[in-house]
Amino acid sequence: MGESGNRRVLVTGALGQIGMELLDALIKKYGPDNVTASDIREPSNLGEFPVRFSKLDVQNREQFEEIIRSNNINEVYHLAAILSATGEKNPELCWRINMDGLMNVLELGRRYRFRIFAPSSIAVFGPDIGPVASQDSPLNPSTIYGVTKAAGEMMAEYYHSNHGVDIRGLRYPGLISWKVMPGGGTTDYAVEIFHSAIASKKYSCFVREDTKLPMMYMDDAIEATLQLMDAPSENLSVRGGYNLPSLTFTAKELYDKIKARYDKQISPYYAASRIWTDAIINPLDTRTWISMGIEAANHAPIEKPFNLGVIQV
Ligand code: NAD
Repeated sequence: MGESGNRRVLVTGALGQIGMELLDALIKKYGPDNVTASDIREPSNLGEFPVRFSKLDVQNREQFEEIIRSNNINEVYHLAAILSATGEKNPELCWRINMDGLMNVLELGRRYRFRIFAPSSIAVFGPDIGPVASQDSPLNPSTIYGVTKAAGEMMAEYYHSNHGVDIRGLRYPGLISWKVMPGGGTTDYAVEIFHSAIASKKYSCFVREDTKLPMMYMDDAIEATLQLMDAPSENLSVRGGYNLPSLTFTAKELYDKIKARYDKQISPYYAASRIWTDAIINPLDTRTWISMGIEAANHAPIEKPFNLGVIQV
C-alpha cells in the first residue's frame, strides 16, 4: 500500500472510548465502505454509524484472519485491550487479551503485510521516573496494564526490525472526551467528573487532589493518530510508541475550573438572560410567523434529538 493508497481499514475494540471517535474520523476520511468495526461486544451503541460490524474476540486468530481476508484489509487500528484499573482486578485477563491480541495482529500483519496502529500508554512509565518523562526514559511500569504496554512496545520494535511489519504507536496520555464513557483506566476521573457535574451529581474522585497526570483532548489524539498513520514509513524511528504531550493538571485544578464555570452560570443574571426570549412578534404579523414556522418545519430534515451536554441553570 502506498502512503495515500486506497485504505481498507479494520478497527478492533471499536466500541470503546477511542474507537467510537476514531470510527467517525475514519469514515469521514476513507468513506463508510472502507471501514470495518469490530469488538467482542454487541454493537448496541453503533446505531448512528453507517459502518460494517464484525464481532471479533482478538484472541481468536482464525476469526481475526477471516475478517482481514474477507474485507481485504490493509490497515488495522488495534484498540481492543483491558485498561489499567480493570487490569489490576484481573491481571491474567489483562495479560491474555492485551498480549495474545497483539501477537495475533502482529503475526497476521507479518503474513498479510497490512499497516498496524497499536497504542501504548503513559502507564509504561513507573514511579522512578520523576515529574517529567522523555521519549527515552526507562520503562518500569507498576501495573500489569503498564507491563503489557511496555512489552507491546518491545514486540512492535522486534516485529518491525526482524519481520518488516509496519507497526506504529503513540503513548496516549489520559484522553478526555464526552461521547463514550472511558473503559476502566487510571485517568477516567477527568471524564467522569464532567458527566457528574452535568447531571448535578456528587462525584468522589479516586485520586488525591494533588495528583497530576498528562491528559489530552480526544480530537487531538485522533488527529495525531491519523497523522502518524499517514507518515512515510522511512521517516519513523520509533515503532513501539512516541510520547504524545498535551497538557497536565492536578485533580484539584480541574475541580476548580469546573466549579468556577458553574458558579458563574448560577448567577441570576446569567440564568435570566438564557431563558429570556430572543425576539418579539408584532401581533399583526402573527399569521405570517405561523406560516413561516409551518413552512420551515415541512422542509426541515428529521434530525437526532439535540443533546445539550452543558450545565443549564
Ligand atoms: P475502552 O476500554 O474504552 O475500549 C476497549 C474496547 O475493547 C471495548 O469496547 C471492549 O469491549 C473491547 N475489547 C475488550 N476485550 C476484547 C477482546 N478480547 N476482543 C475484542 N475486543 C475487546 O478503551 P479505550 O480507552 O478506547 O482504549 C483503546 C486503546 O487505547 C487501548 O489499547 C488502551 O490501552 C489505549 N489507551 C487509551 C487511553 C485512554 O485514555 N482512553 C490512554 C492510553 C492508552
